[in-house]
Amino acid sequence: MGTSVSLASSSKVSTSDRNVTQPLDFDSKSIEVIVLGSSGGPADKHNSSYLVKSTSTRLSDKGSLLAIDAGCLLAGIMDILENDSSKSPDSKQIFSLNELPYSKLSANAHYILTELLAGVCLTHQHMDHIAGLILNSVCFSPESPKLVAALPNCIDSLVQNIFNGSIWPNLTNESTDTYGNRVAISEGYSIYLQRLVPTKIYSNVAKGLSVAAYPISHGKHPGCIGPEKPPPASVSNISNSPLQSSLPTGNSPLLSPSSFISTSPSSLESFSTTTTTYSETMNTESRTLSYDSSVYFVQNEQNSTVILIFGDVEADSISMNPRNKAVWDDAALILEKRLLKAIFIECSYSNSRPDNILYGHLNPKYLIEELSYLASCTRSNPSLDTLKIIITHVKLDVTICEAPYDEILRELTMLAESNKLKCTFEFAYAGAHMYF
Ligand SMILES: [Zn+2]
Ligand SMILES: [Zn+2]
Repeated sequence: MGTSVSLASSSKVSTSDRNVTQPLDFDSKSIEVIVLGSSGGPADKHNSSYLVKSTSTRLSDKGSLLAIDAGCLLAGIMDILENDSSKSPDSKQIFSLNELPYSKLSANAHYILTELLAGVCLTHQHMDHIAGLILNSVCFSPESPKLVAALPNCIDSLVQNIFNGSIWPNLTNESTDTYGNRVAISEGYSIYLQRLVPTKIYSNVAKGLSVAAYPISHGKHPGCIGPEKPPPASVSNISNSPLQSSLPTGNSPLLSPSSFISTSPSSLESFSTTTTTYSETMNTESRTLSYDSSVYFVQNEQNSTVILIFGDVEADSISMNPRNKAVWDDAALILEKRLLKAIFIECSYSNSRPDNILYGHLNPKYLIEELSYLASCTRSNPSLDTLKIIITHVKLDVTICEAPYDEILRELTMLAESNKLKCTFEFAYAGAHMYF
């Protein structure tokens, strides 16, 4: 008999159409985020990983935590536990040590990873987003396989390039045969891979939390064969120009599930009867034009409050495969209902970084350009003044061992002001504990 993962199921609720199931106190906090790390390297610690929890559940409830990305897991949890244990008894601990079962810090860290963490949703397969998952995967057991969910191309890449017996043992419920076909493993696996279908439909992934994943672009794919898209003339002077005009206005290529070839999102049974080649599961356009990343709409199931957590992303205005607009269009509908509370989004570099070496990332100029498009979509809150923008993935300058936090914040604040945005900016430092 194979083991089963019971936490992942689909709920037929759209990102924009869900009715609020309980009266919502707009000032109450619904979603909790613990930042294990938000770095994009090059240092091999505190890389991108965010633990998310519904405030409707207790931390001590098994399966209460969801990790978005896993650049670090156990190491980040241990750092926070260590910090918690050094606090005076009357100050607030992130992991409430008296609710954990062991006296030893490392045993509690292992317990959080294996029992309290329901699963991991990956935005993309770059090492600074998966390293913790790979190294920690030996802690997971076949009796309780860990859910790892992502869009299909990310899961394909993990099976093909990481859990392949060469880079790392294959601990997953999938393998490939000698012809490159995908083969299901029915038992003995400790990671249960789930391909998410990129739609507006939320899937339950942890106690009280659901996610919807949208594909976005993260620079040029290494196998890109298309022409370079020149940056529009307006991007260097966005503070004086209407942002909407510099963003693509064509049809969204993203939201039709039919444009993505994938297996069933959550059914092991249907997967095990299907054999699909890797080349068939990859989206042709994405493969040839841009490197795929994703953004998660994370929803508290009880009151429909949402936060967005972006993986690495580039601006639509300089992308060969612009896909952010579709995300902002749907985010605006949620913001209109006052249900969108925060956006975790990267700003890897300051504006001093030239466009040709952004490598699929944002700087303040392009982040404000994207936020201004979101603002232009919302009639009731065009200044985004209820929104918290949490800045992630700031790259360390190794030559001076510093990240340009001050410079980025200065540039963001200045550009936000000139574009009449009143959102607040905050950095996602490792060890931060936030409520939305
Ligand atoms: Zn990254
Ligand atoms: Zn990346």
